[in-house]
Formats: sequence, C-alpha cells, structure tokens
Amino acid sequence: MNESCMLQRNNKGRLYILSAPSGTGKTTLCTSLLELVPNLKESVSFTTRKPRVGEIQDMDYTFISVEEFKLMLSGGQFIEWAEVFGNYYGTSFKRIEDILASGGDVLLDIDIQGVRQIKAKHTDAVFIFILPPSMETLEQRLRGRGKDSEEDIIKRLHVAKKEIMECVFYDYIIVNDLLDHALNQLQSIIISNRLRTDGIDYQWLENHFDIH
Ligand code: ADP
Ligand code: 5GP
Repeated sequence: MNESCMLQRNNKGRLYILSAPSGTGKTTLCTSLLELVPNLKESVSFTTRKPRVGEIQDMDYTFISVEEFKLMLSGGQFIEWAEVFGNYYGTSFKRIEDILASGGDVLLDIDIQGVRQIKAKHTDAVFIFILPPSMETLEQRLRGRGKDSEEDIIKRLHVAKKEIMECVFYDYIIVNDLLDHALNQLQSIIISNRLRTDGIDYQWLENHFDIH
C-alpha cells in the first residue's frame, strides 16, 4: 500500500473486524490484506476446533482443549468469545493489546456473536461484512475448499442464510466476487480510516508547521 501522505498518525491503533458466512473467502482476503497493508496485524484466535489439513498452530489459530478454553474464559482472558458450529472461539485481550501497543492496527476475523461483544467495548472499531456473490457460489466455494464434511457444508449453508441479514449492523459491506476487486475495497476502507482526524498526531502538526 502506497502511503505517500507524510501526515504523522498518533499511536492509537484501530480494530478492524471482518465477518462473513463461512466459505465466503474471508481467510483468503485477510491473508492478502495482511501482505498488502503495512502495520496491520491479525490477532490469532484461540479455538477448541480440530485443525484442518494444512492449518498451523499459532498461525491459523491457537488450538486448545475445551478445558484450557474454559480456564482462560474464567480467568477473564478473552475480550470476546463464542460457540460456533459446536466449537469455542475466543479473542485474547493480551494479543490485541500487544498489537495496539506496538502502534499497529488489529485485524479480527470473528463471528456475529463476537462482533456484538466488541461493539459494546470499542466504539471506534470498524466493522466490515463480506458477502458471497450468491448462495450457489458460496456452496461451490465450500465444496471447492475440500476441507469440510458434507454435514458441515450443509450446516454452514444453513447458518449463512441467518448471518447474511446481520450485515445491517456493520459499517461496510463488500461482495467477494472478483478477489482483487474485494481486496481493493478492503484496502480503501483501511486507508480512509487511517486518514480520519482522530488518527492524526496534532503535536506533530504543530511542530511541522511551526505553530506555537
Ligand atoms: P472463509 O475463510 O470465509 O471460510 P476461505 O478463504 O477458506 O473462506 O475461502 C473458501 C474457498 O473459496 C477457498 O477455496 C478459496 O480459495 C475460494 N475463494 C475465496 N475467495 C474467492 C474469490 N473471490 N473467487 C473465487 N474463489 C474464492
Ligand atoms: P472456521 O472454523 O471456519 O475457521 O471459523 C468458523 C467461524 O468462527 C467463522 O465465522 C469465524 O469468523 C469465527 N471465528 C473465528 N475466530 C473467532 C473468534 O475468536 N471469536 C469469534 N466470536 N468467532 C471467531
């Protein structure tokens, strides 16, 4: 991403929350987005789900047991958590705080239940919903991914129909039809939010323009 503007930002990172029905292409989009946008980092979630083929511990998720999850939960370690498709998922307070403390923006890939919890705590977070082009395409993508059982695919398609109408609670909606197009739109959202006045370092402005 070419940030030619020399404006200096303050150190307050922002949370970018992405949700989409499973199979829409959220993971694919997030992977490319993280390569394209400097200073944007994903907070790796904890889950009790079993790893899919090719998934790597602490990169895709931190895979833990139900007992470990419940221990973290009772210790207040999650900023949000949810049960999705029979497994627990949670976002660690510490992981988010570490990214924000390093001056980065945080990318979170969470479901609608988690979104509701974050909305109540982070009023300046940016909520983005990704739609598939159609139910037919969603089914093709779930099947094409080849990582979910037939039972899981049917469950995910059923849940997708309920999730889609939740998009009204988000700030932005993107349709992931052509990958590059959706990626461009995602990048634009981050660029425009980084240029918001509440992200600018006013001390720097005063010094830079010699205003005293
Ligand atoms: P999610 O994380 O939302 O569950 P994935 O990123 O795993 O979805 O994508 C599901 C499947 O769809 C993958 O096989 C991926 O390669 C494919 N896919 C993602 N985005 C697109 C796109 N824009 N066009 C075609 N296929 C896509
Ligand atoms: P999957 O198992 O297919 O990777 O993810 C299933 C669903 O769980 C997706 O909708 C994903 O956004 C959601 N999810 C992943 N991590 C978290 C998390 O930490 N919290 C919540 N609430 N949802 C999550």
